[in-house]
Amino acid sequence: MLKSCHCCGLIHEIAALQSNQQAQCTRCHSVIDQSKNFKRSQGRTAAAAVAAMVLMPAAILLPILEIEQLGHHHSSSILGGIVDLFQTGSVLVATVILLFSIVLPLLKILALIELSWLCSMQQRHRAWTYRWMEQIGKWSMMDVMLLALLVMTIKLSGVVQFHFGPALIAFVLCVSMSMIAAICFNPHAIWESP
Ligand SMILES: [Zn+2]
Repeated sequence: MLKSCHCCGLIHEIAALQSNQQAQCTRCHSVIDQSKNFKRSQGRTAAAAVAAMVLMPAAILLPILEIEQLGHHHSSSILGGIVDLFQTGSVLVATVILLFSIVLPLLKILALIELSWLCSMQQRHRAWTYRWMEQIGKWSMMDVMLLALLVMTIKLSGVVQFHFGPALIAFVLCVSMSMIAAICFNPHAIWESP
């Protein structure tokens, strides 16, 4: 079987190995991935992506900010904030936030679940999904949303009394889980699994 080293790209011909044996690259000495490792990385990706999927509704629907101003109590979720923006006429800003912080991250998580766990599509379609996911991944910016929240925190402090709602924890966990899922995913697995 021909295998390329994931680190330096050198091609090796590898004979069938025993379960306790490892193939090592002759040039850079990294361990060359065997199909067993694909399963492990698939499992990790699936677990992290499913966790992100489960956390997503809590992250966008629960109140993320609770503001006290002049005796008024106001709490807002991410989705509620976007709806407010739509209603006050900031359609462009609302659309941009909706697309980049909810729709694209959600599509990316769904794509990772399909590629690592469901595997319901043909290999050809899965490869296409992976390329497409790489492209939208550049534009899915939940982590930027997190930064925006931080900046808002600094700006708001001193002006109004506020504290973070339960959605913040769900949001941070959701962002971390989708990052972990993307990092653990090994694209070679698309061609290794049936
Ligand atoms: Zn190598």
